[in-house]
Amino acid sequence: MEKVLLVEDTRLFSDLITARIESSLEIPVVAATDMLGARRIIDEMRDDISLAILDLTLPDARDMDIVHFAREMKIPSIVFTGSFDVALRARILESDVIDYVTKDSPGSVDYLISIVQRVFKNQSMTALVVDDSAVARKLISKHLKQYRLNVLEAENGLKALEVLEKNQTATGNNISLVISDFEMPEMNGAELIRSIRRKWSKDELAVIGLSSSNSDSLSARFIKNGANDFLSKPFLPEEFFCRISQNLDTLDRIKALRHAATRDFLTGMYNRRFFFELAAPLFADATRRESDLLVAMIDIDHFKLVNDTYGHDTGDEVLKSVAEALTGMMRETDVIARFGGEEFCLLAPAVSAKAAPGFLEKIRERLSQLTFKESAFSITVSIGGTNALGADLNSMITQADKFLYAAKEAGRNRVILAP
Ligand code: GH3
Ligand code: MG
Ligand code: MG
Ligand code: MG
Repeated sequence: MEKVLLVEDTRLFSDLITARIESSLEIPVVAATDMLGARRIIDEMRDDISLAILDLTLPDARDMDIVHFAREMKIPSIVFTGSFDVALRARILESDVIDYVTKDSPGSVDYLISIVQRVFKNQSMTALVVDDSAVARKLISKHLKQYRLNVLEAENGLKALEVLEKNQTATGNNISLVISDFEMPEMNGAELIRSIRRKWSKDELAVIGLSSSNSDSLSARFIKNGANDFLSKPFLPEEFFCRISQNLDTLDRIKALRHAATRDFLTGMYNRRFFFELAAPLFADATRRESDLLVAMIDIDHFKLVNDTYGHDTGDEVLKSVAEALTGMMRETDVIARFGGEEFCLLAPAVSAKAAPGFLEKIRERLSQLTFKESAFSITVSIGGTNALGADLNSMITQADKFLYAAKEAGRNRVILAP
């Protein structure tokens, strides 16, 4: 389990920060009140510690002792300090810390929490550094790794595009951020960004251009070609961290908004609107190729009775479990969504009329095996489906619905497919 090490001798701050990190970020905190305590914790669980928050003035440590110790242990750290002046700031930033926060400023704890959150999110994100100078690449990579980002490198624009292509998956690109130099052989930074933008939008892939301070028009060229942001070289690590964080925060927010717009709130499944967005190209593709396509409607039997007998909350639990089981049974190319109350729609490319009954029977059976309220009850579902490519997707869904109704009429807990 990844943890935050907090070294802070003031009880007030220690309690406050621990509570905030554990409750709002759900990250466990191990706290020490002095350097000796910090040493003990690190001896015991070095590999569990992802990040340290360090107070500089401790009963048994002064100056930068604790910061140097964390650096020796290769633990990324944030300094949380009461005293502050220009000289101290310089010394802190020389010591490879991610950032520093002064205790007396308003909102300091909020800021601290936001950095911790950023650093933890970074662990699952990847950045690509594009620069023809190996020295420059290493320096930028070093900073990014310190922020716990995963880092890839490319020595020119063409190589960068190759790396991006390789990291493309069905659901998007594994790379969230590209940091690119301008002057490079093969393809300069502006050309690279133009190529990137033909495929990846500003909302899914952030690009930050690096321009030397001696050419003042470069920053504008980066932005005009589609960069999210730029930094002038040489930059302060502090500024670099702020820019990176801000751009990644923006990506996260857009992702969260998109997630909310495409998902059903209760189950986290795709909603009806987004089902059509995903299914339309699959339907068009199947029509063009005259390939197999299955559309099915799945509806829980007598679900009203579940609510009436066990309450609405239990009904919600049932819906969540059904959604999870359904999602787990899908292949990557299948699309499944919650269409309404206790009704789900499935579109499965390449499932033939011959294979469909087996597939849907398996779904019916799996859902009937779920149990609720410590095995007090289970549910059944009725399923209607069709493999006949209709004029449009809606007519296939109408057909599936018709056979769902037939399955209900025939006594429920069964699959009926269009003949
Ligand atoms: P049938 O076998 O004919 O499908 O009967 P049914 O009771 O499942 O179908 P009906 O359409 O009569 O009732 C659906 C019920 O689903 C009624 C509604 O209160 C419940 N429902 C819809 N959305 C939710 C939800 O989000 N949570 C819960 N707990 N219940 C829901
Ligand atoms: Mg102190
Ligand atoms: Mg029902
Ligand atoms: Mg229904």
